[in-house]
Amino acid sequence: MLQIHQFPCLSDNYGYLIHDPASGETACIDTPDAEVYLREAEARGWRITQIWNTHWHPDHAGGNEAIKAATGCTVTAPAEVEKIAAPDRVVAHGDTVTLGGFTAQVIDVSGHTNGHVAFHLPEAGVAFVGDAVFALGCGRMFEGEPKQFWDSLDRIRQFPPETVLYCAHEYTQSNAKFALHADPDNAALQEYAAEIDRKRANGEWTVPTTLSRELATNPFLRADNDDMQARWGGAAPHETFAALRAAKDNF
Ligand code: ZN
Ligand code: FE
Repeated sequence: MLQIHQFPCLSDNYGYLIHDPASGETACIDTPDAEVYLREAEARGWRITQIWNTHWHPDHAGGNEAIKAATGCTVTAPAEVEKIAAPDRVVAHGDTVTLGGFTAQVIDVSGHTNGHVAFHLPEAGVAFVGDAVFALGCGRMFEGEPKQFWDSLDRIRQFPPETVLYCAHEYTQSNAKFALHADPDNAALQEYAAEIDRKRANGEWTVPTTLSRELATNPFLRADNDDMQARWGGAAPHETFAALRAAKDNF
């Protein structure tokens, strides 16, 4: 079994360490805070052997150098990470990365940034999606275009629906407010939003989520839905997505 350890980092990021007990290998998924990652790994007796970056933003790759200096691990990243740190291996869509006996598919999920990738581990039934998709939301479109971002989300939509999505931020409660505005008659969304409010009131995390739940409730994954297109306009899903993304930016 792949072991996944999740912990809060910075103000609203989640850090992830993944561990293959058979080989003893451990990978950091992104590096928001080197000190916290090193401490969390040590507390588990896990030796960090790899870093996998999803995109170049400092709250995702900013801890690379300190973790590498402390552990001698290797850094696997999309080319854009060269902006802030030197990867040992540059990966792109279609590549695979291994952690002991586990294989991750590298998926192009660009749009938030132009080189953003996700790591999908089909055998483990999980995907690390960075800032491409959040529970009830998606990343801001800082670098990409609507068609590019929609195509990225569509690739995530093709994962098996039971896939557990590990996103990089706890943004769900504020995302839910916009989602309810965007898709007010969605009963599954209303139920999900109520559950999120209860969880947050108890200080619980709302991440990870599952793809099946997001497919039913996340407005950005539903831009090809007839009701959403009628409400938000657009002759093609990426146009509806663009309208939703712009509305969220000004919400
Ligand atoms: Zn980001
Ligand atoms: Fe981020």
